[in-house]
Amino acid sequence: MVAPRKPTAEKPLSVDERLGLDRFEPDEEPFIEVDTELCKHCVPKPCLYVCPAKVYTWEEGELVYNIDGCLELGACLVVCNKIGRGAIKWNYPRGGHGVHFRFG
Ligand code: SF4
Repeated sequence: MVAPRKPTAEKPLSVDERLGLDRFEPDEEPFIEVDTELCKHCVPKPCLYVCPAKVYTWEEGELVYNIDGCLELGACLVVCNKIGRGAIKWNYPRGGHGVHFRFG
């Protein structure tokens, strides 16, 4: 494992470097659930573009999501094109689980 680079006045950390400092405590209870059948009829798919952690990807005609790196912003819920039909069920992880921000 490569030690994280220390920021300097001349070269502050990039967004990716800052995110790399965060720690994640996985929650075995799924705190985000997506009805991916609804996603097949979603044309704009804004969740693919709004999530900085890239939780959502489109693979072979299916929405695939991996909540392990979720930053808990809730942006996907706000922009979901089918929120009125309950495409995304979103909660925070249980206490002590999820992201622990460390300057990221
Ligand atoms: S925006 Fe909502 S409905 Fe559309 S692909 Fe993403 S999760 Fe599915």
